[in-house]
Amino acid sequence: MRVLQKDQLMDFSRSGQHFESASKVIPGGVNSPARAFGAVGGSPLIINRGEGAYLYDIDGNRLIDYVGSWGPHILGHRHPAVIQAIELALSRGTSFGAPTELETELARLVVEIVPGVEKVRMVNSGTEATMSAVRLARGHTRRDTIVKFAGCYHGHVDSLLVQAGSGALTHGMPSSPGVPEGCTADTIVLEFNDIDQLEALFTKQGNEIACVILEPVVGNMGVVAPLDGFLNTARRLCTEHGALLIFDEVMTGFRLALGGAQERFGVTPDLTTMGKILGGGMPVGAYGGKAEVMDSISPTGPVYQAGTLSGNPIAMACGIATLTTLRETNPYPQLGAMTSKLTSGLREMATEAGLPHSIAQVGSMFTLFFNPDFVTNMAVSARNDTERFGRYFRGMLDRGIYLPCSQFEANFVSCAHSEEDINATLTAAGEVLSQLD
Ligand SMILES: *Cc1c(COP(=O)(O)O)cnc(C)c1O
Repeated sequence: MRVLQKDQLMDFSRSGQHFESASKVIPGGVNSPARAFGAVGGSPLIINRGEGAYLYDIDGNRLIDYVGSWGPHILGHRHPAVIQAIELALSRGTSFGAPTELETELARLVVEIVPGVEKVRMVNSGTEATMSAVRLARGHTRRDTIVKFAGCYHGHVDSLLVQAGSGALTHGMPSSPGVPEGCTADTIVLEFNDIDQLEALFTKQGNEIACVILEPVVGNMGVVAPLDGFLNTARRLCTEHGALLIFDEVMTGFRLALGGAQERFGVTPDLTTMGKILGGGMPVGAYGGKAEVMDSISPTGPVYQAGTLSGNPIAMACGIATLTTLRETNPYPQLGAMTSKLTSGLREMATEAGLPHSIAQVGSMFTLFFNPDFVTNMAVSARNDTERFGRYFRGMLDRGIYLPCSQFEANFVSCAHSEEDINATLTAAGEVLSQLD
């Protein structure tokens, strides 16, 4: 076993200093709490630039990036086709508040690619997409009750900021101050993968339910795949009871297959929310679905939704270049193979080190859980050894491997990761895992 000497480890002192200044003018020093190193200790790296599979921080360290801006960078940082498209769009102006050809082009791509989408509306983030999709589902069905699953994250939408006591079928208690109980009173939270619970709910009050919203493969409690029959049951129950099924594919869209989880699992939702890869690194979200449902949005229908910067031309150009490149290159088999190589190595090393663990992988998304049980829902994920994860995270960071700074996140492999990057990651993991107890 090779033990790294302290002077071989990385120096993050400039990041640390900058973070202190940032914290004086930005709450917690970050513009999104997921970036703070709250769960792992220490302060976040301040990034100077990205290139391919690498991030470079302001101390000049090069890190192999498994965060990919939390999902968007499936092509890696600064893919030439993407940068070129942004530069061309930029030469024409940044925003017009009037339709452009680019919006139609990206919409057409989404309609061609995503099985459940006949029409699509662009917004500026995943949060906006889910907020609008839920409003549309309620307005279209003229029902108020919505169903979500514990551990599924759908952005910081008031009515969706609810978790549940494990296994409990609860009327939602808001999980943040500032969300009035009234906002979550019509949100029912179930346990992911629990088919019986879902059946029981629909038997009791199926005709009150506007929609069921879920991440078809969950990324936000660590990676959790749907068990056989779960997605199909949700599909059947929604159809039988006149409720809309919403797949939140903000993370899985264009990642698990070109057409997302719905293509991969062959289950078609009524509405799909998208983001992350759709914008290729620019702030874009979207929601789409059956034309008949989508036409309930203003100006064709009565459900109001708008956005000054929605369909922004630079963001559209970035999205078009990203989706076009993915369609032309079909990287999915290769991405899956590279990710499998990484997860098999991790499994071997964690086993050898005698660490209780389980690994979940779907395509290029994976999580190494410090949990002896296979994670199927939030109740199981709640038992992860987050303290041990924190030490793993720091050990990897010290060796130039940039992982998501929480046990409850998905790791992403991109098209820019090479065999050498995977091997270097496994070498680092071997050292770190063998030293954990
Ligand atoms: C990231 C994410 C969101 C929120 O998207 P933002 O762009 O951060 O608002 C919603 N749903 C899922 C599944 C996500 O992964």
